[in-house]
Amino acid sequence: MKIICIGRNYIEHAKELSNPIPKEPVFFLKPDTALSKNKQPFYYPDFSNEIHHEIELVIKINRLGKNIEQRFAHKYYDEIGIGIDFTARDIQEVCKQKGLPWEKAKAFDYSAPLGGFVPKSNFENLNNIGFHLDINGKPAQTGNSKDMIFNFDTIISFVSKYFTLKIGDLIFTGTPAGVGPVHKGDLLECYLEEEKLLQLQVK
Ligand code: MG
Repeated sequence: MKIICIGRNYIEHAKELSNPIPKEPVFFLKPDTALSKNKQPFYYPDFSNEIHHEIELVIKINRLGKNIEQRFAHKYYDEIGIGIDFTARDIQEVCKQKGLPWEKAKAFDYSAPLGGFVPKSNFENLNNIGFHLDINGKPAQTGNSKDMIFNFDTIISFVSKYFTLKIGDLIFTGTPAGVGPVHKGDLLECYLEEEKLLQLQVK
């Protein structure tokens, strides 16, 4: 399986990192070794001094597809979950300045904690899903799918022009504004609407 991550999918987040608003989805990959499960600790890597949290809605692909038309894209996922796109922001800034790929900053081991999933039929409107991250019991980052520049179906259609999507592939759909550093000892709790689906300790 592969993990596809969308970058700069919320206007306020693009602005906070001084990035342009994209005209088409920006995406990159993480390997399966980036995954970690609910309640597994996150061990702060020694190659970075600035690991940022990016809470994101995640969709799980449930059928094989290529060149998927937007109007059919909804048939390719039936669960919504929550995850964190951990980012070594200090390394990413260097990569961006030099025009280099982002993998060192984005795709390292355990950089993609993933929580549980909820059937999409539970949601009245997929374009109005709230989610938030608390750190040590205090609100740290809040988002809503209504603020996404490219919605789930647009993302699936666009990405599938380039990659065949397979069952079990994950798409992290971008982070809202409010990214920031995590520190050893922090407890991170991720909520989809009001349901806690992911919890992890930074060690
Ligand atoms: Mg992200």
